[in-house]
Amino acid sequence: MAMYAAKALPGTAALHYDADMAATSVGAELQDAIRDDQLFLLFQPIVTLDEGHRVLGAEALVRWNHPVHGTLAPAAFLPLAERTGLIVPLGRWVLRTSLRQLADWPAGTLLNINISPRDLREPDFATALSALLDEYGVAAAQITLEITESMPVVAGESFTMLDELRALGVKLALDDFGTGSSPLSLLHDVPLDEVKLDRAFTQADPDGRVSVAAGVAHLAEALKLHVVAEGVETPQQAERLRELGYRAAQGYHFARPMPAADFEALLPVEARA
Ligand code: C2E
Ligand code: CA
Ligand code: CA
Ligand code: CA
Repeated sequence: MAMYAAKALPGTAALHYDADMAATSVGAELQDAIRDDQLFLLFQPIVTLDEGHRVLGAEALVRWNHPVHGTLAPAAFLPLAERTGLIVPLGRWVLRTSLRQLADWPAGTLLNINISPRDLREPDFATALSALLDEYGVAAAQITLEITESMPVVAGESFTMLDELRALGVKLALDDFGTGSSPLSLLHDVPLDEVKLDRAFTQADPDGRVSVAAGVAHLAEALKLHVVAEGVETPQQAERLRELGYRAAQGYHFARPMPAADFEALLPVEARA
């Protein structure tokens, strides 16, 4: 299959396009979208599971405001981005936009940012993140990078990058926990701070897969990992998770992903002053 190098975006290596993708022109469109700020971020609150449902922070979730198709969810363009390598400039856009946003929020606001396995194989990833933290005056401790469970199988260089990121002071979360095929030893091998219980287990029936939720709660406690239950949609799910020892959760029951201004309005008044 014919491959050719696309013109490099500032600060990125030359990207290689798949000819099929270029033929559909969506790859070229996405490249323009990154450059022209057609992407935007929504923020989904992460809350405590006790009565008060205090806001602990948010997860940044990318969207594409497509000129013809309107707002596109990540499922509509991330696979393409991964295949074409555009995930790297896209990820840098997400990082920069997230940190710029954090700079405008109260000091100490916590933000989870999704990264791609591909990011961890870019030798300058930690250096670039460090430069952005400096540029926007954001503390590394405000950031948790979410990586998917299947990711760390990629190889040794990724582990090195995870150590570099940890050394910067950012936290690392294992996303979609319970769905991947990674061995449990991964929890020891990867320097993690947090696991996010996949919604398949959050939403399971009481005597079925919810036992996985119970197991993960114990595991997280034993390994001193922060744990967040994802995809909580009902008060019953929230209550059951609380009983299982979960302290933090995310899901439509509490709040949908929302624009920055709406999330800012949820931050405690004293923090906003
Ligand atoms: P994820 O990281 O597991 O993010 C959670 C997804 O679940 C989000 O979908 C969110 O909108 C959705 N969600 C939240 N609460 C509920 C709920 O109660 N019920 C249900 N059914 N869904 C809920 P979204 O925004 O479409 O993102 C899909 C995936 O795309 C994310 O899954 C993540 O893997 C990826 N993604 C999103 N933003 C980024 C990004 O900036 N960079 C990278 N590399 N990946 C991203
Ligand atoms: Ca502000
Ligand atoms: Ca995530
Ligand atoms: Ca997830």
